[in-house]
Amino acid sequence: MKILVINAGSSSLKYQLIDMDNEQVIAKGLCERIGIEGSKLTHKVNGESYVTEVPMTNHTEAFNAVKEALTSGEGKVVDDLSEISALGHRVVQGGSLFKDSCLVTDEVIEGIRELSPLAPLHNPAHIQGIEAAIDVFGKDVPQVVVFDTSFHSTMPAKAYTFGVPYEYYEKYGVRRYGFHGTSHRYVTGRCLELLGKAENPEGTRIINCHLGNGSSISAVKDGKVIDTSMGLTPLDGFIMGTRSGSLDPSVVTFIMEKEGLSASEMDAILNKKSGMLGLSGVSSDDRDVTAAAREGNERAILTHEILEYQIAKFIGSYYVALGGMDALVFTAGIGENQTVHRSKICRYLECLGVELDEEVNATIHGKEAEISTPESRVRVYVIPTDEEMVIARDTKDIVENMGKEEAPAAAEEEAPAEA
Ligand code: ADP
Repeated sequence: MKILVINAGSSSLKYQLIDMDNEQVIAKGLCERIGIEGSKLTHKVNGESYVTEVPMTNHTEAFNAVKEALTSGEGKVVDDLSEISALGHRVVQGGSLFKDSCLVTDEVIEGIRELSPLAPLHNPAHIQGIEAAIDVFGKDVPQVVVFDTSFHSTMPAKAYTFGVPYEYYEKYGVRRYGFHGTSHRYVTGRCLELLGKAENPEGTRIINCHLGNGSSISAVKDGKVIDTSMGLTPLDGFIMGTRSGSLDPSVVTFIMEKEGLSASEMDAILNKKSGMLGLSGVSSDDRDVTAAAREGNERAILTHEILEYQIAKFIGSYYVALGGMDALVFTAGIGENQTVHRSKICRYLECLGVELDEEVNATIHGKEAEISTPESRVRVYVIPTDEEMVIARDTKDIVENMGKEEAPAAAEEEAPAEA
């Protein structure tokens, strides 16, 4: 079964065609600048890249360009679109409405639309992607949506409720939702396999650190999330490439008043100009900050100290929340590659029984490995994430079960449990 995984943004569309018989990626690519002058498609097959500059004024035209790339020319991988059994779409915000992946129906599209105020940049773009896919592939090809928030839906109210008047939760759904759920789910599954607990995760305590441009940490007990660092939006947590992470909320109102900023201007500063970029003044990319730190740039050095300290503090608090830690997982661009951060974070955690094998750690870049010593009370792993595979697997499962049972629709809004 071939499944096309889609991640649609407002002006971009990423795709991966995966053969689910062997879980191999057949082709992948990216449409950029949709609706903007100079749009182009980069299509990759077997390590070769094929770039075409093709006008794409909307997502339907982007899907048509993807169709061309998949079915014709040098990068052709299928004779006809009919070889593609189903599509799986990434959706950022599932709110309290979608606790699981599900088949796309009119009601599901409506549900994603209703949640747009909570993810104004993402959910409307996902709907454009879904509707364009229906235009190009036809109504009979099943489409599945997989939500970034779903894996976190097991959090208890005491973890997801913020200390603001409760009416804002009731009126607007202001609460912690968490993001990167497909990544946290993937590495949790793999970590449980490595612990020999995949069949029975009962009693396991895992802390996952997804450290990329956007970063989040999750605390997973018995295979289920009990807390995570991102909140109502992906801004919460610790410093990221350009996001501030958590801070004293009055920092926000203080700067707004001093600088005469509107809410959206302040939002842009917190999301796009803060974090590693804002602190270091060098770059949002950790490789650049690392290069500057090596040259003695003090703000770059401070940026790294803040990053490692904040991550270690999160892990410490989740250690308490979980009542211990069996495994610590590092994943995503920084987590998989930046050996020095892993080392410095783990040094903070020695008081919790974490013992890193420094020699092994220094050699691990972008591949799975155990990097703790045999004596360590906590297993420390590097596990490369694969969000597309989670989406493809869910899509396959749902499509294979179509007709066997009623497709899962939007869950009922649940009354919040007492904290
Ligand atoms: P995104 O969150 O956009 O998916 P990634 O998971 O690729 O991003 O993470 C991007 C971050 O990871 C950047 O700060 C980058 O410097 C870092 N990174 C990615 N690859 C490497 C590498 N090979 N070595 C060091 N750092 C890397």
